[in-house]
Amino acid sequence: MTGDTPKWMKESLYPEYAQALSMDELLYDSETDHQRLKVFQNNRFGRVLTLDDVVQTTEGDNFIYHEMLTHVPILAHGAAKRVLIVGGGDGGMAREALRHASVEHVAMVEIDAGVVEFSKTYLPMLSDGAFDDPRLNLVIADGADFMKAPGDNFDVIIIDSTDPIGPGEVLFTDTFYGHAQRALTPGGILVTQNGVPFMQGDELTNSLRAFKALFKDWGCYLATVPTYAGGPMAFGWATDGDTRSVPLETLESRFDAAGIDTGYYTPEVHKAAFALPGYVRKLLP
Ligand code: SAM
Repeated sequence: MTGDTPKWMKESLYPEYAQALSMDELLYDSETDHQRLKVFQNNRFGRVLTLDDVVQTTEGDNFIYHEMLTHVPILAHGAAKRVLIVGGGDGGMAREALRHASVEHVAMVEIDAGVVEFSKTYLPMLSDGAFDDPRLNLVIADGADFMKAPGDNFDVIIIDSTDPIGPGEVLFTDTFYGHAQRALTPGGILVTQNGVPFMQGDELTNSLRAFKALFKDWGCYLATVPTYAGGPMAFGWATDGDTRSVPLETLESRFDAAGIDTGYYTPEVHKAAFALPGYVRKLLP
């Protein structure tokens, strides 16, 4: 800790509720063209990435979030070869998607080159070599612009964006979701980072209202990530296929065939994640 570095990073997503993580060593702090970017060492969660003082990902608990936004749609789909990630600048989502040998191509559209470059240096454990994988195509662009004319179709689209404030806001609109649907292959699956419903219920309702108008099957599933404060996080789910109902036995055989060692995802957790508590069901449009 240098003299002028505050002891605590206080995340204030809400006027009435905040979380704080001790900055045991500040490693990086700068403004990119889009946002304020910080990395610091926290003695419990390891390295922590924040954008505009909102926790994006940590060395310690990122596996939960990245596993649930990749293995759920990829294993539900069963034959996903082409994956699109919007956001994901730290490389964790690409890391998990590329663990599937069946995935032949991952396009990653990230608005802020600064997040990518600096994550390679300060958070290499997150991408774990993903940026050097020949299957990865990194595009520095606004995901909303990219989705207007992606020039390709995808079996799985993952929106790994910041919250709908700042550059991430355009990724939570009906127009964007309509373009995403157009970019899906038949039976393709769209999944989204959709906030913590106990605190950000409107965000989830708005996304699902758009999904309901666009897709045959829509909903959300849950997982609790300790540093996403306020309870379980919701992941939006939207598809014109019927892959939500893939039997447990099928998921088990696909998971075994993938040969991926996970810290959170299991086929049972996959199925159970779609069971929603009352307060989340009440948010469904
Ligand atoms: N796990 C985090 C969460 O749940 O909030 C998301 C992590 S990831 C670092 C979020 C990424 O979205 C950032 O790298 C940010 O630059 C990127 N992003 C925000 N708005 C974007 C946009 N319009 N197009 C592409 N990437 C965007």
